Amino acid sequence: MAKQDANIIVIGAGVIGLSCALALQRAGFRVQVLDRTGVAAEASQGNAGAFAFTEVEPLATPGIMRKAPRWLLDPLGPLSLPLGYAVQFAPWMLRFWRASWRDRYEQSTRAQTSLMQLSKSCLEELIASIQAEEMIRREGQLQLYEGEADFNANQESLKLKQAQGIEVQILKGADAIASIQPGLSERFTHAAYTPAWMNVCNPASWVERLAQHFQEAGGEITIATVNAIQPESASVTLNTDQGTQTASKVILACGAWSRTLAQSIGDRLPLDTERGYNTTLPAGAFDLKTHLTFPAHGFVVSRIDEGVRVGGAVEFGGLQRPPNYKRAQTLLNKAKRFLPGLNTADGVQWMGFRPSMPDSLPVISHASQSDRVIYCFGHGHLGLTQSAGSAQLVKDLVLGEASSIDRAPFSAKRFH
Ligand SMILES: Cc1cc2nc3c(=O)[nH]c(=O)nc-3n(C[C@H](O)[C@H](O)[C@H](O)COP(=O)(O)OP(=O)(O)OC[C@H]3O[C@@H](n4cnc5c(N)ncnc54)[C@H](O)[C@@H]3O)c2cc1C
Repeated sequence: MAKQDANIIVIGAGVIGLSCALALQRAGFRVQVLDRTGVAAEASQGNAGAFAFTEVEPLATPGIMRKAPRWLLDPLGPLSLPLGYAVQFAPWMLRFWRASWRDRYEQSTRAQTSLMQLSKSCLEELIASIQAEEMIRREGQLQLYEGEADFNANQESLKLKQAQGIEVQILKGADAIASIQPGLSERFTHAAYTPAWMNVCNPASWVERLAQHFQEAGGEITIATVNAIQPESASVTLNTDQGTQTASKVILACGAWSRTLAQSIGDRLPLDTERGYNTTLPAGAFDLKTHLTFPAHGFVVSRIDEGVRVGGAVEFGGLQRPPNYKRAQTLLNKAKRFLPGLNTADGVQWMGFRPSMPDSLPVISHASQSDRVIYCFGHGHLGLTQSAGSAQLVKDLVLGEASSIDRAPFSAKRFH
């Protein structure tokens, strides 16, 4: 395909869509982005802002199915599944269970590690090329444990990181922990510090920055809802609420909303959503030195601009149910116990839809029935982190080139 004759439409202006759009534009293609709302309208807007390159372990770990029922018993706990959604959700859960078997877990860890390494190197190139270093915080991440037993329960995960060459510093005792982050409750006796973790000052500003570069180089972002994709032999037609559009190739990057469009062209994929909650506190709420993670409680605390964002949790409830902001409040109450000096006044609550696959791996591949449609969605908890690497793989697919990592684990066909 001659680049000058090819026009590419990216559906979705989240961090994934815009990262793909910029990468393709820089490869010489004419690119247009369509979004029903605008730039960073959904999950990419309010996430925790972490480039969590050290998180190579899939969520479906061996033994998780024994722990999960305990978490589900607490209606405002870190994991929830409304009864009314349980039947609809069962097939996803079955696949999640299968993904937690040792063989699949090890495969997914290898794939995740390769995508993380690619994403980190692509992100560093991107930061340099758009001169965005001032938007990046290189302050690492501190995972906190309450007592020896809690710490020991996480040993396998820490060892796995070290085995992948990730630097993990183990801290024991309040003084050692305070040398990285003062002001934590003394209930935390052990911690693991991963210096390679990075954060962006604000995830919405990051996507807006990508959009700005894309538009300054001639890219177009149009508000339109795509209702149907029709691949043909020489082009792809999109039916939108603004009329029909035709492209040489289409990138489907609609996050948690990608499933119906993929299904309409023959791919029934187990994409669901893990809804997450947070509260953003204004400047001065807490003197945060690093990104804090509380693994036993399923939430994190990160700096967003000059404020602090407290959030996490996983709620399986689909795309239609209204948010239950008691979850955000529960996390904030816990954060106050863990960081006694946290000022919880004047917070803004938010809920976002993580686009999640049961094996924690995104779908980055051609549609099964047309090479003219390329999928890039399903990044779950790690879409910001994996955005630059995913865009590189999409560019390779469009150019018909080999990639520097194995793309097979990300194929849409893995669920056939
Ligand atoms: C609480 C929380 C914390 C998180 N923290 C982190 C973190 O620290 N680090 C990290 O890496 N990830 C994190 N994530 C995950 C991350 O936010 C997502 O993986 C990522 O934002 C997904 O990006 P996306 O572009 O695929 O989807 P989205 O950002 O959801 O974008 C999808 C876009 O598609 C558009 N769209 C949908 N349907 C249509 C249609 N039919 N036509 C046109 N447009 C359409 C939507 O308007 C939207 O703009 C977090 C998520 C949550 C909820």
